[in-house]
Amino acid sequence: MEIPFNKPYLTGKETAYIEDAVKSGKISGNGKYTRMCQNFFENKYNFKKCLLTTSCTDALEMCAILLNIEPGDEVIMPSYTFVSTALAFVRQGAKIVFADSRADYPGIDEDKIEELITKKTKVIVPVHYAGVACDMDKIMALAEKYDLFVVEDAAQAIDSYYTGANGIKRALGSIGHLSAFSFHETKNIISGEGGMLGINDEKFLKRAEIIWEKGTNRSEFFRGEVNKYGWVDTGSSFLPSEIISAFLWAQIEQLDKIQLRRKCLWNQYYRLLKPIEMYGNFKLPEIPEYATNNAHMFYLVCKNIKTRTELIQKLGRENILAVFHYLALHKSEFYHEKHDGRNLKNCDKFADCLVRLPLFFELGSDEIDKIISVLTQSLAKSN
Ligand SMILES: *Cc1c(COP(=O)(O)O)cnc(C)c1O
Repeated sequence: MEIPFNKPYLTGKETAYIEDAVKSGKISGNGKYTRMCQNFFENKYNFKKCLLTTSCTDALEMCAILLNIEPGDEVIMPSYTFVSTALAFVRQGAKIVFADSRADYPGIDEDKIEELITKKTKVIVPVHYAGVACDMDKIMALAEKYDLFVVEDAAQAIDSYYTGANGIKRALGSIGHLSAFSFHETKNIISGEGGMLGINDEKFLKRAEIIWEKGTNRSEFFRGEVNKYGWVDTGSSFLPSEIISAFLWAQIEQLDKIQLRRKCLWNQYYRLLKPIEMYGNFKLPEIPEYATNNAHMFYLVCKNIKTRTELIQKLGRENILAVFHYLALHKSEFYHEKHDGRNLKNCDKFADCLVRLPLFFELGSDEIDKIISVLTQSLAKSN
């Protein structure tokens, strides 16, 4: 039997809620299910406001529009991230200034951001890789010092937290001025494609709704705040249909159960791999004191690309699908010529050496045992 890398989990209520939405006769956006999902996230994670979107990519594009990004503006982000993080800002004409990853974590090296800030810098975009927080105190302090905005790419970070120096535990996505989440089928809770914009700075509230609704003030009209609606700003059709929101609601209802299961599987991997880490062939992920683990992903960092290639092949021969992750964006076909040539060695290391293991709700403990036995054959030896 093959063990896939990911299998989207269905709670069982999705089609019932979709049917309810269809029968209600309201299947376009911003209806009952959209509002139920938004209220849930606002209350649980303490956003000033959130808006469901058709993807995290769209939510990031909304951020770039809201921040009035223009040609010449510079945006600092890690190179080790998904294309969308950069694309949203590139579409507005920004120059992306790629920062290196930390040596011990694929996210942005917080201590290497300040040297990249210029008069043109407008935004810092930390990516909470694997749902593990970047050190937000450091990033927010820089934003304050240089008058910059912070957009958290929290695509992988639902239900994960950061505890800063003030001791307050805050949800990822609720700390920066704006944030973006994904409900793509590879994430913890899903709607096929789907995403969400988190808004924490009040000054963006009104305009975000307008950009979301094709540049119109239709949301205000529906609330009875204005007696007609029209074209008032730029925007696009960023809101999902009720069919998608109904699907997402079924997932939200099972959030705690999903998270519990994923964390249990993550811990099983960690516990069984810890004893063979000492052979020096790989490193396990470490969760910093200030961060929680939402078990979005279980990854290993192999000692070199050869070890990783052999491992993926060996797992493949046993019908276990393990995969590597991002190719460095500063070396991408689309952007390498625009990159300023700085060497990003930690980013390169993660691009070469990081491997992700199967992790999904329905993965069996016995399947993890099987994966571990293959890993042990490969990695529990000195050479
Ligand atoms: C998944 C992901 C995205 C894109 O999410 P979509 O919902 O597919 O647009 C963006 N950034 C990161 C870090 C991701 O993991």
